[in-house]
Amino acid sequence: MRIIFATNNQDKMKEIHAIMADFPIEIVSLKEAGIHADVEENGKSFEENAVIKAEAICKLTGCVTIADDSGLEIDALGGEPGIYSARYMGEDTSYRIKNANLIHRLDGVPDEKRTARFVCAVAAAFPDAPTKTVRGIIEGRIGYEEAGENGFGYDPIFYLPEYGCTTAQMAPEDKNKISHRGRALEKIRPFLKDYFSA
Ligand code: IMP
Repeated sequence: MRIIFATNNQDKMKEIHAIMADFPIEIVSLKEAGIHADVEENGKSFEENAVIKAEAICKLTGCVTIADDSGLEIDALGGEPGIYSARYMGEDTSYRIKNANLIHRLDGVPDEKRTARFVCAVAAAFPDAPTKTVRGIIEGRIGYEEAGENGFGYDPIFYLPEYGCTTAQMAPEDKNKISHRGRALEKIRPFLKDYFSA
């Protein structure tokens, strides 16, 4: 008995393994399950994309599958990069360049208008039960320069005023306790537990 987590992103998978370490059922990545699949994310929301990925892999394998879709919403940029966070400026462009570009686009924007959030939708698809979706959010602000070496992606520019640091400056276990992904996975746990204990 195991659950597949439908992602090819190794950074995400590291966080997921840490967050779900005490979960009684083994959670394996696509790679660990030996599945080579690249599902097209053509939904219009984080939730739609998470459902597309989870249901596609569940159908393919017959296994309970969870998937997440996440990203950064910057208010002063009308919610960009949003669901296009991974694809922003091209999938292969380095985050040093993406982060520098976002900071540049916020040139002259004052502290109080630099509000942003990380959003994570998680979907759980079951072979014989309706799909469940949940959402986790963490609110912060876009900094003026990159800071920190931990985490991945946009973490070095995502500043948390109440902690006085970026999510890239937090210990991984501290980020996981308050992160969008940590919160969404907390919310999906009861649905998984109910399913497996039924
Ligand atoms: P997805 O794989 O389509 O869900 O894309 C998620 C993208 O959003 C990542 O590639 C990052 O660019 C960004 N992102 C999501 N979560 C985080 C995080 O915890 N830290 C930094 N960037 C993140």
